Amino acid sequence: MFAVITFSTLLSAALADTACTNKGGKCVDYRNYKCIAGVQTAICNGDTYRRCCLPCDATCVANDKSWSANDGACTGKGGVCQVNSNYCGSSYSSGLCGGPTNRQCCMKSAADSACTSKGGQCVDYRNYKCIAGVETGICSGDTYRRCCLPCDATCIANDKSWSTNDGGCTSKGGVCQLNSNYCDGSYSSGLCGGPTQRQCCSKSSGKWATTCAGQSSNRVRGCDSHGCGHYNAPRGSRLHKGVDVICNDGSVVYAPFTGTKQGQAKPYGDGSVIDNGIKISGSGFCVLIFYINPDSYTGSISKGQRIGYMLPMQKKYPGITSHIHIQMCDLKDPTHYL
Ligand code: ZN
Repeated sequence: MFAVITFSTLLSAALADTACTNKGGKCVDYRNYKCIAGVQTAICNGDTYRRCCLPCDATCVANDKSWSANDGACTGKGGVCQVNSNYCGSSYSSGLCGGPTNRQCCMKSAADSACTSKGGQCVDYRNYKCIAGVETGICSGDTYRRCCLPCDATCIANDKSWSTNDGGCTSKGGVCQLNSNYCDGSYSSGLCGGPTQRQCCSKSSGKWATTCAGQSSNRVRGCDSHGCGHYNAPRGSRLHKGVDVICNDGSVVYAPFTGTKQGQAKPYGDGSVIDNGIKISGSGFCVLIFYINPDSYTGSISKGQRIGYMLPMQKKYPGITSHIHIQMCDLKDPTHYL
């Protein structure tokens, strides 16, 4: 038995999945399932790997059982017989399985044998919590396809006993797991029971600190006579590839996250009174922050720590809603981190 638990995040997309669920199916990452009745494409929300696992009723189960009596040619080669709409990490061969012609033999991928020979399973490790941990570099496919190691009875018993000391993590909304597992956030040590590599995965670092003194939160500038402050607002023929966070001229500005100062970043390069800023990276983010006078351009910085102060924007743009501009280095939308 594999001790794998699908994350409940898979359920968050459920509302858009009705075309599948109305059929009695279930939207899943089809690479991790064998659906006896087959898989239907393009009726599930999410990426291309999220497909509808069709329901298998009593007749379907009985058919599969009777067909499997003629699967010897496939299983003898180490393959698995299944309806060929299912995921197959290698390739399908026909004529080796019982049942209809679309019931074919998925040959075991030789590339995954380093994992499967340990009793592990190659999966998209972002969707699993593997109690025994994850091993890298022994599965075929992209970097997210990793070996979920098998968890035997001792492993399950250990995890259960260690978890009695997980309160420091769970009280913060985190999850204790071996830190070879995927964590959509960051690991902290000292909050979980068990060995030192059993750590607390918590998403709390996802939200940024309030960046401007005197403001109770990061508020996006609305529209004024000079333009609008939201991401992708029009700027002449271009789009605004950052967000404008309301901040009064002269206010102290704080670091949105913990990281390293990466040098000066100027919005215009025209030497005007607001033509200054800084680049900061860390905690999984990289941003440019404009219209501030940084205290320094190098060194490490903690979330919420002072980085400088807001330049006199009203001198350049009288009547504008004064703001700092925060832009991701990859120009993606930062709004949900505010
Ligand atoms: Zn801006």
